[in-house]
Amino acid sequence: MKSLVLKKVGRNFEFDIENHPIPTISENEILVKVKATGVCFHDISIMLGILRRGVKNDCILGHEISGEVVQIGENVNNINLGDNIVSTLNSSCGNCNFCQKGLDYICYQSKGYGHGIDGGFTEYISLNEFNVLKIPSGVNIIDASILACPIAVSIRGLKYVSKIKPKDKVLITGSGGGLGLHSAIVSKYLGANVICLTTSIGKENKIRELTNSEVILLDEFDFSEIIMAMTDDLGVDLVVNTVGASVFERSIRSLNQFGTMLVFGEIEGAKTSVNLAELIFRNISINSSCGANKSDILEAINLVNTGQLKPVVSEVFKLEEANKAFDKIIDRHSLGRVVLTP
Ligand SMILES: [Zn+2]
Ligand SMILES: [Zn+2]
Repeated sequence: MKSLVLKKVGRNFEFDIENHPIPTISENEILVKVKATGVCFHDISIMLGILRRGVKNDCILGHEISGEVVQIGENVNNINLGDNIVSTLNSSCGNCNFCQKGLDYICYQSKGYGHGIDGGFTEYISLNEFNVLKIPSGVNIIDASILACPIAVSIRGLKYVSKIKPKDKVLITGSGGGLGLHSAIVSKYLGANVICLTTSIGKENKIRELTNSEVILLDEFDFSEIIMAMTDDLGVDLVVNTVGASVFERSIRSLNQFGTMLVFGEIEGAKTSVNLAELIFRNISINSSCGANKSDILEAINLVNTGQLKPVVSEVFKLEEANKAFDKIIDRHSLGRVVLTP
């Protein structure tokens, strides 16, 4: 089978298409024929060398994996041949305290797919039964790849960490990216009044169409002044910061009293400094969230299956054309999620 292997990290990253044997499975595992794998900024951060900790050598990237079950181990009980599945984001053990309590995404024995262990930019992958969820026939298998990340990740961050309430004013930075766009979609679903920020002229109208929210096209102007003007000088209740350090201070200045910033992405691996008085005088809280557990993914599956959330996969590329997909994301020319198919 062909696999896309990261051979060199940095600005001049390099991949090879390698021929690997189809994985063998143990008694608790299933063999999945990969149908689609989303390209996350997490993958881009690894290939650019921004994110290095815990990354295996010669890694097959990709943690947003959907596919069809083509072989099952003898102790597999809940998955059948022919099922369509989406993977979790980590290879959780299923037995530890965290896994038993439903916090499988922070299992200490787990490794991230496409990070600590090989991921989905390949034709076949072996996965433990514990780390897959079935996809109903009403959900398109390409869309299914992004159910865990970014959709369930957004549900965890916005519904369970940020606890968005109906009518909350929510500002999304980087709203044209995969996490940003799905954060806007999930915030709208939760009843928030959403303002989306983007720096991409070409994406402005599409974001408006897909999220049914206010969209502001940014230039060099300090967006916090626009946000204050739009909110009677009050500010928003929540900033979902998918961009990171470069907009950190302006995000804080956009917040209302008792406002919260959800730190949800850091695209440059940069640091930030902030005048702490800005936080104190506004009674501001800063939260962060990373990942999604199986119940979040199940919630995402149900919401998509019932038409309450609509995944945005804007383009599909073959593994051989992966560099085109990566360049588009790095140059910020992609909208929502771009996925690879074998
Ligand atoms: Zn992801
Ligand atoms: Zn565990």
